[in-house]
Amino acid sequence: MCGHPFHGIVVGDRECPRCVGLVPAYGEARTASLFSGPVRALVIGLKYHHGLHLLADCAALFRGAPHLLDHVRGARLVPVPLHPRKRRERGYNQSALLASELAREAGGETTVDSLLTRRIDTETQTAFDRERRRANLQNAFALAPGAPLRSSARHVLVDDVFTTGSTVNACARVLREAGVERVDVATLAHG
Ligand SMILES: [Zn+2]
Repeated sequence: MCGHPFHGIVVGDRECPRCVGLVPAYGEARTASLFSGPVRALVIGLKYHHGLHLLADCAALFRGAPHLLDHVRGARLVPVPLHPRKRRERGYNQSALLASELAREAGGETTVDSLLTRRIDTETQTAFDRERRRANLQNAFALAPGAPLRSSARHVLVDDVFTTGSTVNACARVLREAGVERVDVATLAHG
């Protein structure tokens, strides 16, 4: 469910320890890489150091992850939105840029549709307690005004890093409540 990559051969049932306690509002999550080493540096450069030149490396990572390209091909990719204040500060939404790279690498009529908007800047709410933050995250996302919905199309939420899944879960819930039948998740890295 969480898409955490693992190595080796699975014999019998295997329960992913990172999926324990995860109640996904989406179907399946897949990721290109672990969030560690050079990939961690890549994500931090892209997000916090205006590293737009790093998108070429992200595209190369996607190219090296055929399971991820198969996962998204033909779907509507929906970037996890930034709060407008954050978007202005950064100048771009890295998840939207990653979605574009992913769509190009996957080909096959994969599109990027920014259907969601972020109403609450949850990252600035560190002073709130856990419960409050969780409640805020639930209400943080909404459909973008005039978002063209096609409920029968498969939608794949795109984010830079999958950590606990709470962000993509909140986004998936908005799409599901709007009538979208199938929502999956794709990320560059898994923390
Ligand atoms: Zn898992």
